[in-house]
Amino acid sequence: MSTGRSEFVYELQVCRWAELAWPPDEPQPPAHLVARQLGTKQRRWDTVVVETDPEALGARREFGDRELDSDLLHIVRHAPEEWAFYRDVLPHPGYPWRYVREAIHRADDRGIVRTRRNGNKIEIKRIAAYPDWVDRLIAIENKPDLDASAARQLADQLEHDVDTALADEVWVATAKTGRRVEPALLESLPVEAGILTTEFEGGVDADAGSIEWYPTRLSTADGDAPDSDAASDAVDANRHARRLELAERAYGRGWRNYGRTMRPDCRHFELRRDGRALLPWCAAKGRHQSSMVCGSSCTDFQPEPPAWRTRGWPIEGGPGKGIKRLLADRAARYNRP
Ligand code: SF4
Repeated sequence: MSTGRSEFVYELQVCRWAELAWPPDEPQPPAHLVARQLGTKQRRWDTVVVETDPEALGARREFGDRELDSDLLHIVRHAPEEWAFYRDVLPHPGYPWRYVREAIHRADDRGIVRTRRNGNKIEIKRIAAYPDWVDRLIAIENKPDLDASAARQLADQLEHDVDTALADEVWVATAKTGRRVEPALLESLPVEAGILTTEFEGGVDADAGSIEWYPTRLSTADGDAPDSDAASDAVDANRHARRLELAERAYGRGWRNYGRTMRPDCRHFELRRDGRALLPWCAAKGRHQSSMVCGSSCTDFQPEPPAWRTRGWPIEGGPGKGIKRLLADRAARYNRP
């Protein structure tokens, strides 16, 4: 059954549903945040859910609202309680120390580590302990129309996810068909992947998702392998660091950052309500536009008239800026649960 909507719009719907209702079938849901299009060099996930607990997330907030990249993480995770020469306390990063110095200055500018000079040495001290705030990382692939060829393509990607176990669970989200057996169950997807069907015809709400197949938990908790040795400890540490990097990106970006690449400054750009979601709408094309078409090469693009910005427009700065601000406000509200 075709959903008649682009994968991009479906992705936004799944993200909003996950924000409202993750995890499905869980009476006491954990605090969580949702992001889209995150991944590694090898693999990019459509939707990412980071489960956490409010206290740990509160401790993370002390490091600001922006994401910490791997270089900054290296510093805040190892910065000591008392002043110390940075080379004495930070593990060797595997690249020259001058890059670490540069990152220390960035961290200092952002107020997430303290620095001082002692002779010609730079000493550092932490502002707080960087918390272990990521409980579980969930990857969701969105395929509104999961036919046999889409399933074949997806199967390889999911096998990769299962093998690397970077996420704790992987899921496929697809539009509900209402058939006795959902077609997604008949496709040859890895059995470790969960299958979620969605009904967004009446708009996005918390009841729009149902579980057709439960996933297998892919990973043990970070670093708790029973018979660990040095090699497996190194693998665990690397995996832990990559998960944190992903979680940091999710924290900083959320899923509403499409306003940066699309054209909210176009006079035709609107946000339309779809149940409990707001989705981009193009008044010129008369439909929800994808992020691919809503860019600088769109032939229907027209800048918002200057008068919209100056004469009594209800949102200060004109609709384009207002839309960006609205998306940023919502991201701040929901990504800081
Ligand atoms: S006309 Fe083009 S640029 Fe403007 S909102 Fe529509 S798709 Fe985006």
